[in-house]
Amino acid sequence: MRSTGSWYEVLETVSMKTFAYRLAGKMKLEHRDLTNPVAVGDVVEFEPEGETNGIIHYIGTRENYIARESPRNKHQLHLLASNVDQVLLITTLIQPHYKAGFVDRFLLLTEPQNIPVIIAFHKSDLWQEEERLFFEEQVGIYKGITRSVISTSLFDEREIKLLASLLQDKTTLISGQSGVGKSSVLNILYPQLQLKTGEISESSGKGTHTTTFAEMFSIDTAHFIIDTPGIKTLSYNNLSTMDVAHNFREFFQYSQNCKFGGACLHRNEPYCAVLQALAEGQISPIRYQNYLNILDEIEGKNYWERKKNF
Ligand code: GDP
Ligand code: ZN
Repeated sequence: MRSTGSWYEVLETVSMKTFAYRLAGKMKLEHRDLTNPVAVGDVVEFEPEGETNGIIHYIGTRENYIARESPRNKHQLHLLASNVDQVLLITTLIQPHYKAGFVDRFLLLTEPQNIPVIIAFHKSDLWQEEERLFFEEQVGIYKGITRSVISTSLFDEREIKLLASLLQDKTTLISGQSGVGKSSVLNILYPQLQLKTGEISESSGKGTHTTTFAEMFSIDTAHFIIDTPGIKTLSYNNLSTMDVAHNFREFFQYSQNCKFGGACLHRNEPYCAVLQALAEGQISPIRYQNYLNILDEIEGKNYWERKKNF
């Protein structure tokens, strides 16, 4: 299924034909806090209206979903997709430059639903020694909390084959910041998709926008790919500081032993097991710092919201 505005493209699984559907009016009202009540990956029931159009009446229970704060309205959530087996996050160290903290912010989209993540550090053909070392460090940080951390390049057949094997027989949502090479990777894995690739603009080092909506592709009956628009920024006005603490996976494991248990934010609380694990080198200081930055950001927001209410 793909969505463009208020029309949704639905694959009818008996005839394997696609139809254009719109939502029944009352369903829109039931989901007011979402920008899009139906997401790519949803299983829907519909009533035909003529040859190619119809109305969606029912959305099946979602096994899981990935939702982000709407880039247009911070009080609304945007459903990126539902019913996925895993997420492939494509990122780069150069072209475009690695954005510190981005991976940790991204994992806050998948952790609440326990969705396995593969992180691909792409364009490895451009790396020098410095980038190789940085990549190894990232593997150390993320391998325990994700399904896999790999390096990829369009020019390395072995790396592409490994990536292909990780995607087989699964429904994978593919995400990344604009310009990281997401469309190029999809094209090399699945040439039949013929996705448009953007050139990196010389001045900004950032890619231009080519994709504007999430779209699901059926590779075979058990193998699906959901391509999503390139991410610019991720904001978390919808989360509380405690939500963040609970969704840093390795912190949460230790927090059972914090004096304040699940209520500990692991900053300066006494007898904090996360701070102890950090001191003993079991928790990455880089990830911990990114965690603190996200908490600060959320509290900053709360401060201004409180002020507004007075
Ligand atoms: P998207 O915005 O993430 O879909 O990125 P694109 O697929 O449009 O690629 C952005 C730019 O990165 C294009 O100029 C690609 O040719 C380039 N690119 C993609 N993959 C690689 C790679 O493995 N190595 C190098 N050096 N460039 C790549
Ligand atoms: Zn703690």
